[in-house]
Amino acid sequence: MQNVKAYSAASATSPLAPTTIPRRDPTEQDVQIEILFCGICHSDLHSVRNEWSEFVATEYPIVPGHEIVGRVTKVGSAVTKFKPGDLAGVGCMVDSDGTCENCKDGLEQFCPERILTYNEPDKHLGGVTYGGYSENIVVDERFVLRIPSNLDLAGVAPLLCAGITTFSPLRHWGVTKGKKVGIVGLGGLGHMGVKLAHAFDAHVVVFTHSPEKKADALRLGADEVVVSRNQDEMEKHLGSFHFILDTVSARHDINAYLALLRRDGNLTLVGAPPEPLNVAAFNLIGGRHSLSGSAIGGIAETQEMLDFCGEHNITSDVEVIPIQKVNEAYDRLSKSDVKYRFSIDMASLKGD
Ligand SMILES: [Zn+2]
Ligand SMILES: [Zn+2]
Repeated sequence: MQNVKAYSAASATSPLAPTTIPRRDPTEQDVQIEILFCGICHSDLHSVRNEWSEFVATEYPIVPGHEIVGRVTKVGSAVTKFKPGDLAGVGCMVDSDGTCENCKDGLEQFCPERILTYNEPDKHLGGVTYGGYSENIVVDERFVLRIPSNLDLAGVAPLLCAGITTFSPLRHWGVTKGKKVGIVGLGGLGHMGVKLAHAFDAHVVVFTHSPEKKADALRLGADEVVVSRNQDEMEKHLGSFHFILDTVSARHDINAYLALLRRDGNLTLVGAPPEPLNVAAFNLIGGRHSLSGSAIGGIAETQEMLDFCGEHNITSDVEVIPIQKVNEAYDRLSKSDVKYRFSIDMASLKGD
């Protein structure tokens, strides 16, 4: 066992503060990664503040972070895909049973035994898993991703959650050239959805409630921008979308978007509003529309996404911060005051 530097929160109302945490020594199958950048996902904030306690209560202290990119420093004797010096990434999961139907289908995110990168039982050391706001992480090779060498690493980190969360449903619902695709919300998830749907050659329409985001949406790859409060603008698009990706996690009216789907169109939720959504049945029945959800993606698909981003030079738009500014970043994130993701430069941890 080794003790490494990290940032943790001691309770739902405590700020994140420097600490040390244990990491296991790499087993035969493990890869040890020195963390270079870690993105700040909205889930980190929800978990630290225990805002999802009805679904999963946070165990304190918590070390969040599941958008991890770094360099391999050690590998176990059975590791074949990585060697010291390689770039490597870790996303939202660090383990699964490998034997269930979901794992066999490459959909580890739905495995009943799946272990998330933080706040889930750590079968090696006991206690819970600790995430990427730390010097290093030790992960089974099966859950370590290869990182294209041509991309800016600060902007790569958010691909491990925001990137795959939007890539997977766009792929699953067949977004490609000739398809009209809506992206609802232009935050950490939404801005990745725009970039990826644009790279898939779809016709991309961004829905935003802030007219001031229009220019930015176009810069990110949108073909059109609709201000969702504007009834006339919305009506022009009635019955025209093949697919809509809804990234909004605040309360909102999804009926307005379901009505924009064409026959057999689908709306997929990747944001998680706290209260149940109201769905008018007629918005589904008329036009055989469907409403579904999606959660990150399997490991193989995450690798496919990273390779795709390497080929198309896609990264997240990030504001890089030192770890000492993490609490300030959380306050700004809770007000959506970031374009579009914070990425922590983990070299700053050495100064603590
Ligand atoms: Zn996330
Ligand atoms: Zn499984």
